[in-house]
Amino acid sequence: MIWLLVICLCATALFVAACAVYGALKHRKNPMELPLRYVFIASSAAIAANVASILMRSERPAYFVYGIYCILMDIMIVTLLHYAKAFTGEDDLIRKARNVFAFAVGADCLLMLVNPFLKMMFKMGVYTDGFGEHFYHVSDRGILYIYHIAVIYAMMFVVNYALFKKIRSAPKLYKLKHAAILVAMCIIMIVHAIYLNFKLQFDYSLLFYAALAMTMLFFTLLYVPHGLMDRLLFFTIANMKDGIVCIDNEGRVVHANRTVKDYSEADIDVGSLDNQLQKWFTEDITQDCTERTWDTVRRIEGRDHYFRIDFMRIYDGDVKYLGCFFLVHDRTEEYVRYYAEKYRATHDLLTGIYNKEHFFERTKAMLDENPDIHYMIIATDVKNFKLVNDVFGVEAGDRMLKKIAEITASFGGDDIVYGRLSGDKFAVCMPKYRFSESEVLGKYSAVDSFLENASFKTHVHIGVYEVTDRSLRVPIMCDRASLAIKTIKDSYQNSVAYYDNEIRKTFMSEQKVISEFESAIASGQFQPYIQPQISVGGRVCGGEALVRWIHPHEGLIPPAKFIPIFEQTGLISRLDKLMWELACRQLSIWKMEGREESYLSVNISPKDFYMLDVCGTMTALIEKYNIPPHCLHLEITETAVMDEPQQQLRLIESLRKTGFTVEIDDFGSGYSSLNMLKELDADVLKIDMGFLEKTDHPERSRTILKMIIGLAKSLEMEVITEGVETKEQAKFLAEYGCDLYQGYFFAKPMRVSEFENKYLNAQFIIR
Ligand code: C2E
Ligand code: CA
Ligand code: CA
Repeated sequence: MIWLLVICLCATALFVAACAVYGALKHRKNPMELPLRYVFIASSAAIAANVASILMRSERPAYFVYGIYCILMDIMIVTLLHYAKAFTGEDDLIRKARNVFAFAVGADCLLMLVNPFLKMMFKMGVYTDGFGEHFYHVSDRGILYIYHIAVIYAMMFVVNYALFKKIRSAPKLYKLKHAAILVAMCIIMIVHAIYLNFKLQFDYSLLFYAALAMTMLFFTLLYVPHGLMDRLLFFTIANMKDGIVCIDNEGRVVHANRTVKDYSEADIDVGSLDNQLQKWFTEDITQDCTERTWDTVRRIEGRDHYFRIDFMRIYDGDVKYLGCFFLVHDRTEEYVRYYAEKYRATHDLLTGIYNKEHFFERTKAMLDENPDIHYMIIATDVKNFKLVNDVFGVEAGDRMLKKIAEITASFGGDDIVYGRLSGDKFAVCMPKYRFSESEVLGKYSAVDSFLENASFKTHVHIGVYEVTDRSLRVPIMCDRASLAIKTIKDSYQNSVAYYDNEIRKTFMSEQKVISEFESAIASGQFQPYIQPQISVGGRVCGGEALVRWIHPHEGLIPPAKFIPIFEQTGLISRLDKLMWELACRQLSIWKMEGREESYLSVNISPKDFYMLDVCGTMTALIEKYNIPPHCLHLEITETAVMDEPQQQLRLIESLRKTGFTVEIDDFGSGYSSLNMLKELDADVLKIDMGFLEKTDHPERSRTILKMIIGLAKSLEMEVITEGVETKEQAKFLAEYGCDLYQGYFFAKPMRVSEFENKYLNAQFIIR
């Protein structure tokens, strides 16, 4: 009989241990698994200890092992507390209980360990079964054993109380899982109480641990309440943002959620769809259609709604038709967002017409779709637009751009594409038969008077490219139209220019010049030529360094062919730096040869002031070549000073302070030369050769020249006149007080070696 009990207890311990292993293997991710595993391990260990105590053959070990069993029971119930905390969420209650019981359990364990010696807790006796076999069991329970029982029952009470509280507060659906565990525990406690009360030899309640373990395992890790899915699905569907209509096999509406009801003007009852919705849903559904998705638009409360509808029939085991459902997804917001984004990506936000990329795209499509139609591309550019922004403010600039966009859009029609390319540049692509120069000019001329300001005129320049080569990309076609505009320059009269071969050639040659710049610099193709400057006394004391491009194939290229291009691209500053360096090197050679009084003039382009630290560069150069700064004359045109007068004037001042000789080049060619003379303190005034050019009023030119020279003298400036081509000119200039001449009458610009050999320090006789 006892052996049967032992075998059953062993099986129970193994079963509980197996539950722990199962949980650990299959449900490791579940947060409840670990607390449960501890309970199972402690329980199976306790049962094993109980079995061992029964099997002990002598008294002292039986005492020890039974004590260990009691300690393991304590531990098992502590793990139960831990489990109950996780399972019921009664953190507060259980934390408090644990603090109280920690000490009580500690004391209990200690007592159990000393009991084999003191025997105050319990005494072991020998039980002899029907076969005459002896087994140890607890025969006598001391007063302290009651303490052990009290601790265990108190802890169990807390566990059960937590479960009970949870049962009361949990939704109905979840009550069962807590209740089942509570009931299982209560049964065990009752059996245990019977064992104690009737002083049975062995604790039969341990046999029920298998059932408890199974209950706990099932309700903690596996159980999903019956109907939970139904309920959850029902609530999910009822509160879904998408509309859903479920229809049974006889075509009756089983369920239509709130969202769908909102789409209907009439009430939807279970059983029927109002006609409107019926039509809306079912018009695209045929009898044999099992699944379908489509998009429709429906006007609800005055606003278009964009819907996507999914339809699906449901079959039982793929055979019997159960019913169907419609899922209605309102995509209006998506649509609105999509179209807004698309609009932003394709339109210019300021003017509302196509942006550059979309204009290119639409134009290409139009050209591709109509291979037989001849097209023109029109590009516009507003003269002085930057000034409009500066002078009248960005808002006025914006208003003007909107006006131009409006004009551009007014060409109208499906056969025209227009857009804003950038800043003040707009473009139109239209069939040739619709293009009329006078119409285009007439429309854009409205911009001229836009600012209502008599002294400030804006004007739209128009470039036209006739699409003759369709293989070109649209941006290139637009570039060609824009390129044509460049030939109009600043004119107010000429407002239209057509792209032709001439422009193309100019453009190509400009591109060639730019592309060859690097290699030309690297291989020393830029060389200084020097044009002598002669004093009134006839002595050549220096000259102007003027760049020449000695091209390997094209020979000598004059600066007029490349300087303007380099000025546009900014490459000029690198070329100028080179020229300055070559001039300084030449001056240092002359200095070593004892010609330290000779000087060289170099040109400073207006762009240099933006691209370079002119003063720093010049100072570094004279230091590098160890030359006195006054030998380097710096020719600065008056236009360079006009852009940002204050800044430029400060710079010129510092150049003069360093000791450089500053010359105002091309004086008299600009707009406000005299005004500038008031501000600009330079060493030399270089009068533009324009005053010496042939004119119908030579007398007037001379009078002006005389005045300018007189003016410069009274401002204590030296005067040099360039472009002197005749002896007569030289003579009257001398008469007016001019100090120096430069011109073909004396010499053209020449190679450095020629200048050194024939001119430097030579004496001219002017009579
Ligand atoms: P610029 O600085 O006004 O130079 C004077 C130009 O007038 C030179 O033309 C010179 O050859 C020319 N010239 C001199 N005397 C006479 C004359 O009696 N009659 C006529 N018709 N012309 C005369 P060049 O060398 O072709 O230079 C043209 C322009 O190129 C220069 O005008 C200057 O603005 C620019 N340039 C030349 N070299 C450089 C340089 O190294 N850097 C920069 N930034 N510009 C340069
Ligand atoms: Ca010059
Ligand atoms: Ca000049």
